[in-house]
Amino acid sequence: MNDRRITIAKINTGIVIDHIPAGKAYLISQVLGLNALARETGDIIAIGINFESPSMGKKDIIKVENLSLSRDMLNVVSLIAPHATITRIADGKVIEKHKVEIPSVVGDIVICPDRFCVTNHEEVPGQFYIVDHEPLTLRCHYCESEFFGPLIKYKEKT
Ligand SMILES: [Zn+2]
Repeated sequence: MNDRRITIAKINTGIVIDHIPAGKAYLISQVLGLNALARETGDIIAIGINFESPSMGKKDIIKVENLSLSRDMLNVVSLIAPHATITRIADGKVIEKHKVEIPSVVGDIVICPDRFCVTNHEEVPGQFYIVDHEPLTLRCHYCESEFFGPLIKYKEKT
């Protein structure tokens, strides 16, 4: 009864986001808008939390049928889960597998914490430079605010 190995639904075509830090799958799912996607498409979305991982102890994993990740989506994953691996599957076969990389700049995926910033008052899409990885620190292109930790708020789609 102690065998806790669990597998989640195999997908035939789509993407697998693996090696997400335990507890972060829900945030990624919210920021990527997977709830809305599931409602619109009816495709399978599997979210696994606290899976056992030899390298990480515990990890989360997300599988999404028929999805390919846009640049913004990939950037979201890389900021929240910097050691994640993305596997693309087509017709039951792995066609690509790579680790995410934190980019030097991201687009409109984060909310600038400065309430006077133009991005919070006008229809100006945000742009942020990654100035440090540890801890992850961003700088707003418009107001030059630098922020990290809980001040990094992602735009949620759901
Ligand atoms: Zn700003």
